[in-house]
Amino acid sequence: MSSIQKKTDIILIGAGVMSATLGSLLKELAPEWKIKVFEKLEKAGEESSKEWNNAGTGHSALCELNYTSEKSDGSIDISKAVKVNEQFQLSRQFWSYLVKSNLIRNPEDFIKPVPHMSLVQGEKNVTFLKNHFKTLSNNPLFQGMEFSDDPEKLKEWIPLIMEGRTLNEPIAATKTDSGTDVNFGALTRMLFDHLKDNNVEMNYKHAVKDIKRTSDGLWEVKVHDVENGKTECHTAKFVFIGGGGGSLPLLQKTNIPESKHIGGFPVSGLFLVCNNPEVVEQHHGKVYGKAKVGAPPMSVPHLDTRYIDNKKSLLFGPFAGFSPKFLKNGSNLDLIGSIKPDNLLTMLYAGAKEMALTKYLIQQLMLSSEKRMEELREFIPNAKSEDWEVVVAGQRVQVIKDTEAGGKGTLQFGTEVVSASDGSIAALLGASPGASTAVHVMLEVMEKCFPQHMKEWETKIKEMIPSYGVSLVENPSLFQEIHTSTAEALCLSERELVYS
Ligand SMILES: Cc1cc2nc3c(=O)[nH]c(=O)nc-3n(C[C@H](O)[C@H](O)[C@H](O)COP(=O)(O)OP(=O)(O)OC[C@H]3O[C@@H](n4cnc5c(N)ncnc54)[C@H](O)[C@@H]3O)c2cc1C
Repeated sequence: MSSIQKKTDIILIGAGVMSATLGSLLKELAPEWKIKVFEKLEKAGEESSKEWNNAGTGHSALCELNYTSEKSDGSIDISKAVKVNEQFQLSRQFWSYLVKSNLIRNPEDFIKPVPHMSLVQGEKNVTFLKNHFKTLSNNPLFQGMEFSDDPEKLKEWIPLIMEGRTLNEPIAATKTDSGTDVNFGALTRMLFDHLKDNNVEMNYKHAVKDIKRTSDGLWEVKVHDVENGKTECHTAKFVFIGGGGGSLPLLQKTNIPESKHIGGFPVSGLFLVCNNPEVVEQHHGKVYGKAKVGAPPMSVPHLDTRYIDNKKSLLFGPFAGFSPKFLKNGSNLDLIGSIKPDNLLTMLYAGAKEMALTKYLIQQLMLSSEKRMEELREFIPNAKSEDWEVVVAGQRVQVIKDTEAGGKGTLQFGTEVVSASDGSIAALLGASPGASTAVHVMLEVMEKCFPQHMKEWETKIKEMIPSYGVSLVENPSLFQEIHTSTAEALCLSERELVYS
């Protein structure tokens, strides 16, 4: 074992979509900074960002019913939907900038137009969807959304879902044609190819084992070279821990006060994939239902048209489950290893509070293949077992922390940026709304960690992301302009789709 000491400006840990996005933003804003990336696997985008490990929904609240809720007076709260939609517009703008500047090419290899729909059954749910639609369609960000409770119309929109369906209760759907399917794996690889071409040092098969503060205020990152077994020590002024599920254990190693009293709860997932082209051709859209009572928001069932490797397929799920691993390629000791004296109480409280969730996950884990098919048949009544196979999705590690509203040991379903008070290190925890909002989350990292540079960077940020710092909902004409120009740059408007 030998130790090599190397200095740099920035270290990005993990080659997922988050590090790729932060690296790409910083490359435009401070091209002279030296950046190194350490990834323990042999390629970029192999964990949650990989195309088969997530659902590839460009989350913009056009179909996800968990982003709106009914208030006590019966009106619909759309504030979360507006927030998520605005955040996705930031991603669309940055990706468009990269395409227009020729820094990445062929946007059709990572983003495709796919209608986003919500589908519900039962009188109460139909009334909710009608109100949800009325409120959203009055908002400039959701123009173009349609609603129907006419089964004949729904047969046009979702023939596969309507075929063979017994209509003994009301059914309704919304549809927005400007939804997208995003191949986050392809995007991640494109961004890292661009970074590598621009002098970013990519180190694959390099696992980060430890992170320590040095006496001169830098961060020392201890890296294990998986191929030759050597240990290297690299120092940097700023470290981003973008290890996905692997971020929490690394954050704990930094020992910063902000890393204390935080735990993680891993939730695994499965999808059913249809590879029968005849069935695949009968459906076009991402159709989101309502979460079952007691189910966590990330397990809302949905049937998705996906474009992966230029082939159209159908994905249904996710079926949640429990595995103690924090990464798909992680260790069974991840969960137990993350329990420390400072977060023990937080974890114990969460365990006691979240019995319903634990029960739900265990039930999901015990589902037989036939039971999974039964859940699928709630969407596609005529689904045949032989047309569908199981794929294991990525791991999500939900953040557990003490909050004022929820008290000790509260499970969080969102994304959290945890950073040192001096901004020298930041980690991204949590997984939702996820990759779609990578640009928003990485701008948040930059605001927290580089406040001294934000003034000088503002003009360039606005060139890349014109709506940065501006509320689009309050500026409908800017939204229209951005929506049209990004659709054009990302070839989303008039694309002729030909797939094998
Ligand atoms: C089932 C499921 C469905 C989802 N659906 C969607 C969706 O439809 N839309 C959406 O926008 N988002 C979705 N998400 C969320 C989205 O996939 C994630 O938010 C996003 O991919 C996270 O990117 P990341 O870069 O943080 O992590 P990852 O892509 O997991 O990358 C982390 C990288 O860090 C590496 N790493 C970890 N530890 C170390 C270490 N010690 N040393 C070196 N390298 C390390 C890992 O090997 C990995 O390559 C979904 C997630 C799941 C699990």
